[in-house]
Formats: sequence, structure tokens, C-alpha cells
Amino acid sequence: MKKLALSDAEWKKRLSPEEYAVLRKHGTERAWTGCFVGSHEPGTYVCAGCGNPLFEAGSKFESGTGWPSFTEPVGPDAVATREDTSYGMARTEVLCARCDGHLGHVFPDGPPPTRTRYCMNSVAMRHVPKGEPLDLVEE
Ligand code: FE
Repeated sequence: MKKLALSDAEWKKRLSPEEYAVLRKHGTERAWTGCFVGSHEPGTYVCAGCGNPLFEAGSKFESGTGWPSFTEPVGPDAVATREDTSYGMARTEVLCARCDGHLGHVFPDGPPPTRTRYCMNSVAMRHVPKGEPLDLVEE
């Protein structure tokens, strides 16, 4: 995958303050405030920073956490993970594999068969309705 690497100043220009705080500064939106909590529209969730397809709506489930949750990404290369020990917790951070934007964390307590719960920030994603083009953001 061809990476999208932009300067901090360029990200700040392109993203809303809320998107920037999560995607570029590893922030977390408050539970139950995100626009995709409870959403069941068919389609694809893409990175709000670069348009990279991340999750199909079919993998979304109600976790009860207040954040949009998914069992698995669209493919093995859609997201990247890394260990995150901030705030005194051992967590696995999930990043967009194309722009390295922070998306959320993944936990091993999801439903079968994957048992994974990708706990995402709504503001880090856009929903592309089924049938509409998945356009990548270019430099
Ligand atoms: Fe991205």
C-alpha cells in the first residue's frame, strides 16, 4: 500500500479539530458521543484522514461500550497495530495502515468466531454507503 504521509501542519489544515485530536494526537472521543454508535447502514467505514477502507458495516456489532465496534478489518493490511502502555494500561492501539492515523484499540473480548473487538472512534472514520465509490485522499 502506498502510504499517505503529510506534515503535521497539513493534517491540521485538512482535518476538523475533533478529527485531528483523535487521528493525529491519539485522542479518544467520549463514549456515546460518536455519530456511528448504533448505526447499521450498509457500506464501508473508511479512514477520515485518508479514505483507506477499514471496516465493512457487516462486521459492526453492538458492544455496549459507547464506541463503534467491529469484529475484523476489511483485510489483513487495512490497519496496523502496536502496543500502547499509556495511562498505565496495556492496550493494543489500532492505526490506519495508510496514513498512520490513530483509530482506536483492539481487545480480545469480542464475539465469536474472531473474539476480537475493534473499538473505534467515530470521528476517525467516514461511512461510505454501499454502492458509492471508495475514493482515497491523495497528497
Ligand atoms: Fe488513514
